[in-house]
Amino acid sequence: MADTQYILPNDIGVSSLDCREAFRLLLPTERLYAHHLSRAAWYGGLAVLLQTSPEAPYIYALLSRLFRAQDPDQLRQHALAEGLTEEEYQAFLVYTAGVYSNMGNYKSFGDTKFVPNLPKEKLERVILGSKAAEQHPEEVRGLWQTCGELMFSLESRLRHLGLGKEGITTYFSGNCTMEDAKLAQDFLDSQNLSAYNTRLFKEVGQDGKPCYEVRLASVLSTEPILDSEMNSKLKSYEFQGSNFRVTRGDYAPILQKVVEHLEKAKAYAATSHQEQMLAQYIESFTHGSIEAHKKGSRFWIQDKGPIVESYIGFIESYRDPFGSRGEFEGFVAMVNKAMSAKFEWLVASAEQLLKELPWPPAFEKDKFLTPDFTSLDVLTFAGSGIPAGINIPNYDDLRQTEGFKNVSLGNVLAVAYATQREKLTFLEEEDKDLYIRWKGPSFDVQVGLHELLGHGSGKLFVQDEKGAFNFDQETVINPETGEQIQSWYRSGETWDSKFSTIASSYEECRAESVGLYLCLNPQVLGIFGFEGADAEDVVYVNWLNMVRAGLLALEFYTPEASSWRQVLKSTGDVAGGRALYEGYAAVTDAPPECFLSLRDTVLLRKEARKLIVQPNTRLKGSEVQLLEYEASAAGLIRSFSERFPEDGPELEEILTQLATADARFWKCPSETPSGQA
Ligand SMILES: [Zn+2]
Repeated sequence: MADTQYILPNDIGVSSLDCREAFRLLLPTERLYAHHLSRAAWYGGLAVLLQTSPEAPYIYALLSRLFRAQDPDQLRQHALAEGLTEEEYQAFLVYTAGVYSNMGNYKSFGDTKFVPNLPKEKLERVILGSKAAEQHPEEVRGLWQTCGELMFSLESRLRHLGLGKEGITTYFSGNCTMEDAKLAQDFLDSQNLSAYNTRLFKEVGQDGKPCYEVRLASVLSTEPILDSEMNSKLKSYEFQGSNFRVTRGDYAPILQKVVEHLEKAKAYAATSHQEQMLAQYIESFTHGSIEAHKKGSRFWIQDKGPIVESYIGFIESYRDPFGSRGEFEGFVAMVNKAMSAKFEWLVASAEQLLKELPWPPAFEKDKFLTPDFTSLDVLTFAGSGIPAGINIPNYDDLRQTEGFKNVSLGNVLAVAYATQREKLTFLEEEDKDLYIRWKGPSFDVQVGLHELLGHGSGKLFVQDEKGAFNFDQETVINPETGEQIQSWYRSGETWDSKFSTIASSYEECRAESVGLYLCLNPQVLGIFGFEGADAEDVVYVNWLNMVRAGLLALEFYTPEASSWRQVLKSTGDVAGGRALYEGYAAVTDAPPECFLSLRDTVLLRKEARKLIVQPNTRLKGSEVQLLEYEASAAGLIRSFSERFPEDGPELEEILTQLATADARFWKCPSETPSGQA
């Protein structure tokens, strides 16, 4: 059996992304816009296979063929007949679901490889005896021969992503080192080219001189088309004694499909910003221009508060070992109109509700300012993983001049907290049912209060540069001491500058505390539609969840203080504030809590990162349908089997052809070649 570090456990948590209500409340054109953007995202997400490992596209093609011919239940019958145990078949389902979720055979969080947790010979029997192999014997056998060995190999260099001897990557040919990466970056900088949509391939010429190909992602390759911006850059260069050649056309057939659906989405754009944004993205993916993507991102930032939000392109550079090449991602998220109506009601009631907080009115701002907070429900997130929030674009120059968007992804957050009953740790049996029933609703109340009234409450006492105070020194009394205010912020001082290292977590604790306190208020509970016994359950589960979250957070050594007083923030009393914070935040083995010992238990019972099942959208006439799948590895596989109903086999063909065309770049001379690649 493989080292558990390199397998996904059979009982891995699987949750479905719930976006039903948000989708239901969209208008027909909004649904069409969301549908075509989703199609573009899913197609583009396939590029991640080519950005991960040499074998990932073949593994994807093989698994897709297998499960297209037989669904997980049908294949199960066959697998058991071939002598697999239930556990071994489940391990195969989990592996497949893992490959789909990570878009490759390396974990998107941690970058380590994962392999199927069953004997290779048994998997081979299942594959070669499957319906898919019966229908297309040569193709299936060929795919298995190409990727079977690598699928299972835990040779040390293959265990994680990295450059050269350090690991595996397909952002660079296998013979590239960190020196090559640095040289290439200097070259790109000298030509004012961005690395975001590139890969680097090195070949050594007959004269022994290295020649580097910088390949841009685009639909077009060498076609003589008049697009002056990019055309002038597609040529050979001498740079510091090396040859560089800038080419384009990486992932061309995949990006072609992305562009087709962006064109269709454009017809349903709600604003001219969206239209211009999509036109620029189309330009970017067609010609390989990051400048066009930046222009598109500028329109995107200007498209404030859309009902259907999206972003698409070569975005995050975490998985490039050099850290400058972007992995493809595309997402579509929606305003949940019902939830945002509740949040608006909360904001409208703010001035009244803030009076309920346990500090004097003088500690509140004269007029309530609504914090910048957007929560959306994800419909589609294609790429190697789904974050719980986004803060983009990543282009530093745009962030400086145009700003950025900071969005919390509500239904992803809900998944992160949802746990199956069997895995619900540290709760009494009778609490588990309540917890499962009320976790979602109480979380909505807590998020609304935390974000809007938590971060939105409180006032900083300031003395401006002219010496004037924004509070009445005579009458405002510190309720902690019963005396007048002794400390405040001077001009130029801020919460962050005074409380520095603890400022942001302290502020989060404060917002959580406001949420816990105000969730007891019947008016608040009424806004969210709860009264009577239900309201009491919401309050109880909100508290219970906070306690459990604090316990689980011991994993990170920063237990959450669930109590905080506004006074120390208003007065800028750093010494008092730090003492309070450190008192609550200390992790020691002192009784009665014995946090350090508890932490060991928490670590032992830690749950592996969950897999998330996403829905599909399907066009029926002019209507868009939402197709949902069960929260299991089999459900996740079904969602992928139905993801590309028109062109699944064609896509698998495209992916393996693209991988095969570059296969020579990952052949190490020392390795014996295996299979056809
Ligand atoms: Zn917060």
